[in-house]
Amino acid sequence: MQGEKHPHCPQCGAVWQADQTCESYFHQLQFWEFEEPKTRFEVHHLMVLSYHLQHPALYSEEGLHQAILLLREFLEQGTATSEIRKRSHRSVNFRQRSWSIRGSALSRGSYDHEITWPMTVADVVAAGEEAYVEQVRKWAASIHTVLSEIKFLN
Ligand SMILES: [Zn+2]
Repeated sequence: MQGEKHPHCPQCGAVWQADQTCESYFHQLQFWEFEEPKTRFEVHHLMVLSYHLQHPALYSEEGLHQAILLLREFLEQGTATSEIRKRSHRSVNFRQRSWSIRGSALSRGSYDHEITWPMTVADVVAAGEEAYVEQVRKWAASIHTVLSEIKFLN
C-alpha cells in the first residue's frame, strides 16, 4: 500500500472507498442477503461465484476452471431455482474431490490476460440493497461475457 488517494484491488480493479476492501464489500452483500433471504438468496450462488471469479487467486487452478464452467452452466441454461439448488449441491460435492478448490502456494488460479472488468463487487454495493438481485444478475452476466470473449485459462 502506498497510501494513494484511491486504492484499488490488485485483482478485480475495484476502487476501494473509505477504507473498504473487496472483502468488506463481499461481506456487505452477504449481510444484505441475510436481511432479506426470501428474495435475495436466490442469487447467492451467482454472487459468490462472481466474487471469486474476479479474485481468482482464491481458487486453485482447477477450482477456477470448475467455477468458470459452473457460471456457464448457471447462465446459459436459464435454470429454475429448484434446479439451481440441485446444481449447487453438486458444486458443494466437487469441493470434496481430491484436488483442492482453494488457492494455495502450490496452485493459484489466474487469467492469461489482464482483464478490465466492466463491473465489480464495488458497483453492486454502490447500487444499493434495493437493486441487489438485479445487480448481481447483471454482474454475473458481465463476467460471463468477458470470459467468453477471451481465452481465459493458463
Ligand atoms: Zn477486488
